[in-house]
Amino acid sequence: MKILVAIKRVVDYNIQVRIKPDGSNVDIDNVKMGVNPFDENAIEEALRLKEKGIATEVIAVSLGTSANQDVLRHALAMGADRAILLETDAELQPLAVAKLVKSVADREQPDLILLGKQAIDDDAGQTGQMLAALMDYPQGTFTSELQVEGKEIIVTREVDGGTETLALTLPCVVTADLRLNDPRFVKLPNLMMARKKPIETINAAELGIDVNPRLNLLQVSEPPARKAGIKVDSVEELVDKLRSHEGLLA
Ligand code: AMP
Repeated sequence: MKILVAIKRVVDYNIQVRIKPDGSNVDIDNVKMGVNPFDENAIEEALRLKEKGIATEVIAVSLGTSANQDVLRHALAMGADRAILLETDAELQPLAVAKLVKSVADREQPDLILLGKQAIDDDAGQTGQMLAALMDYPQGTFTSELQVEGKEIIVTREVDGGTETLALTLPCVVTADLRLNDPRFVKLPNLMMARKKPIETINAAELGIDVNPRLNLLQVSEPPARKAGIKVDSVEELVDKLRSHEGLLA
């Protein structure tokens, strides 16, 4: 089984993001970047399938500028066999990402395409679904458990009322939730070794794919500042305040 994993380079999840003074977007200059957390779960799952002898090859793909080499090296250091960079300066929205990942999938013919359930920068949660539609593959989104059984993948996903279990026929698209696994820690020697591994680079513009944005970003603004809390002297005072506040305890 061949697995293709899509990994996005995003602002590190520990960073408190700043907005550009003109409100046009988030300021990512000189900000620490890393692998989108859900995509680390996706790579980890692919590697576990390889270690179980189910997968034969794990290929990581990332779309963006040459800076994306760092997230691909991280995937190689975790254990991915190959890495592909679709290089572009364009602002990519989920449909464009789905089309570009499809171009790699058409060439590589993976049995399973793993993505994160969402990117923590745009919070779109759309790429996996759009890719499945474009490929005409079954999809298992927000997956918290995955098992390969013959020509099927059994996925468990969390839904409103509890969990849902689906059987998907291969080839298919699966998007990873954080609960799927605990991604392995990357050791320094592995990172050093990954620096020497080649990354195949494809100029995305040469693929002739329309990546034009379909949505215009009008404005980005900070959430309203939280009001300072107050201290009360007793439980009675607290209950009093809660009662007087829009009948909360009425
Ligand atoms: P989104 O639909 O933007 O929330 O992203 C969902 C998933 O699509 C991510 O977790 C990644 O697996 C994949 N993805 C989105 N953008 C990219 C990108 N530029 N390069 C590689 N994978 C991406």
